[in-house]
Amino acid sequence: MDSNLSRRRAIGLLGLGAAAIGLEPRADAASVQERSNPRYYRFSVGDFQLTVFNDGYKIFQPVQPFWASEASPDELNSALEAAFLPTDHVMGYYNVVLIDTGKDRLLCDTGFGKLLPATAGHLVSQLAVAGYRPNQITGVFLSHAHPDHMGGLIGTDNKPVFPTAQHFINEIEWNFWTQKDPDLSKTLLSDQDKKTYAQRARDTLLALESRFKKFQAGNQLIEGVTTELAPGHTAGHTILHIQSGHDELVHIVDLAHNYIIMFHNPDWTIGVDSDPDQAASTRKSIFEKLAAARTRVIGFHLPFPAVGYIRKKGQGFEWVPEPWKQV
Ligand SMILES: [Zn+2]
Repeated sequence: MDSNLSRRRAIGLLGLGAAAIGLEPRADAASVQERSNPRYYRFSVGDFQLTVFNDGYKIFQPVQPFWASEASPDELNSALEAAFLPTDHVMGYYNVVLIDTGKDRLLCDTGFGKLLPATAGHLVSQLAVAGYRPNQITGVFLSHAHPDHMGGLIGTDNKPVFPTAQHFINEIEWNFWTQKDPDLSKTLLSDQDKKTYAQRARDTLLALESRFKKFQAGNQLIEGVTTELAPGHTAGHTILHIQSGHDELVHIVDLAHNYIIMFHNPDWTIGVDSDPDQAASTRKSIFEKLAAARTRVIGFHLPFPAVGYIRKKGQGFEWVPEPWKQV
């Protein structure tokens, strides 16, 4: 299928406003689950202690064209139905990972913070529940400058949330968002949302410029944590290899935004991809390697606690969650 053609058709047929791309949360934030379920989970990688925090959720309705604009409705619905999922909406999950090496405490992204939606932005309160204060975070890795990842960098008081942390960003990502008119023409965002995305990213990065250290692909951020460029979702989108002793974990960040859609067919993309074709080919090549090596992974948008494995299945892949571990 000509994916560009179907994307163009989708854009042409629909005026994509905030509601269409799921920026408007449902007003059901205070559900029973919201109040009672734990939002963090600890596990280890070698000698490192990792904690994953659920920053919240967002409901995307309708599903297309924002999700899998390349798919026919029948193809997408049958993939969702086969996984016992509804076909009228997609649930977005947001997981922030803290790597505590004993020497460094590196936070991987920051969640929505004060930005939309109201159903997310729980990171800081959950850090406290898990026994961490923001000034104990020694490093903040920003995988890319989308609102669900960088919204938590600056608080409602306009001050840095992690005042003593060294901030890290890929220099390609920095250059993309701090230029005057970042090219978001291949996304499915409305013109207004393109402006909002660009403005927020630029304002946030420049406000914290003195705290940011720009790295290049392959650089090590702290002992045991190295970066790999995984472009397409954004120009400088970066994943992490976390290694301690013989144990390894790869943080795939935004290589997949849903545990069914992008696994069932890795060519299916999301409407915020800066370059959807590149995002799909990056996803396929890295998934192939991780599946072949049986590497343990974690993902920013996979269902909490988001630790597991990628397995080949037919022409695509399958997400295999790791069972909850007590130790
Ligand atoms: Zn994301």
